[in-house]
Amino acid sequence: MNRTSSFLSLLSESATIAMSRKSRELRKQGVDVINLSLGEPDFDTPDFIKAAAIQGMKENYTHYMPVNGYEDFRESICMKFERDNGLKYHPDQIVVSTGAKQTLANIFLSLINPGEEVIVPAPYWVTYYEQIKMVKGIPVTIPTSIENDYKISPEQLEQAITKKTKIFLFNSPSNPSGVVYSKQEIQALAEVLKRYPHVLIISDEIYEHIIYDAEHYSMGRDEELFDRIITVNGVSKAFAMTGWRIGFMGADTWIAKACTKVQGQFTSGANSIGQRAAKAAVEAHPSVIKNMVDIFHHRRDLIVRELRKTEGLKTNVPGGAFYIYPDISEFLGKKYRGRIIDNAPALCELLLEEAHVASVPGQAFGTGSHLRLSYATSDEILIEAARRMNNVLSELQ
Ligand code: PLP
Repeated sequence: MNRTSSFLSLLSESATIAMSRKSRELRKQGVDVINLSLGEPDFDTPDFIKAAAIQGMKENYTHYMPVNGYEDFRESICMKFERDNGLKYHPDQIVVSTGAKQTLANIFLSLINPGEEVIVPAPYWVTYYEQIKMVKGIPVTIPTSIENDYKISPEQLEQAITKKTKIFLFNSPSNPSGVVYSKQEIQALAEVLKRYPHVLIISDEIYEHIIYDAEHYSMGRDEELFDRIITVNGVSKAFAMTGWRIGFMGADTWIAKACTKVQGQFTSGANSIGQRAAKAAVEAHPSVIKNMVDIFHHRRDLIVRELRKTEGLKTNVPGGAFYIYPDISEFLGKKYRGRIIDNAPALCELLLEEAHVASVPGQAFGTGSHLRLSYATSDEILIEAARRMNNVLSELQ
């Protein structure tokens, strides 16, 4: 007898996790699968961060900690926000959580009443949509396309705002498109938001340091909006620390208190050793990861060049993160050896089965005719993946 809760039925299985499971199964059968579906750097955590964790253990940071994070870590986060983002937070305005994923869950649980709307530009990171649904909020998506570089316009934002809008969720650099909004574009969106004081803003800046030809700009820089902005960040991506599970936010004190209250009943606080390690990460100047960013930059150029060899595959040039989001509409409705490929999931399956390349269909990110490919892997693998994809895609008729 199935006795799971109605809450559970609000959740969908993460498409990225489902894709990795399928590729693991194929691998078990001995197939050489190239997995471009996962969202993490292929680098190891830098040694100075590991050393800080070891030091933390030696100093017995092994007990319960303050729910919102160690005070000295929150002070370091304030320093980081000021140094990198020009944002002035007080340690009481910082909450450290089990990854930025939990930071977002805390925010939604603290702020959203059933039926309240959250505006999310599409394509969006899968988790946004799922978490909003979990708290019975209503995700209101704004469509974009490769033609406008997957960016929303101020007019689109204004049209999406209603009396029920509680939050506008902004993410630059973006997962899955890799798009980076310029300072001017962010300021133009900020001008719209100023006219709607009932709207709070989440600015998810977790990819801020993985950026190439552009400069990161925090929406919180706008003094008039600062009190309404929740700046979300974490160490997973920039410092190759996905497994340590440390994320954080800066926000007005009432929001920080609310999130701390929620977190107190879910986890009691983020892992102690992880916090000691992450403290070293945020204290380090971002230039310590320059080498990694340069490599991602090189791979970005490489994957764009290789994918563009496939006729019909429209490829964006992502300014940051480590994903590329090609438009595959040219291939939909075509046949591969008699098999009809009528949507992105079908194309992903085909690529997995025939090219042995794992990707994620755009449906997971709220768009119909795209694939997300992660280029956080070596040059040779990227070249081989593009070659295999090209072989299969060019057979579609
Ligand atoms: N925000 C975005 C846009 C992401 O892509 C991710 C991870 O994939 C996160 C937040 C959460 O990262 P973590 O929970 O590892 O801190």
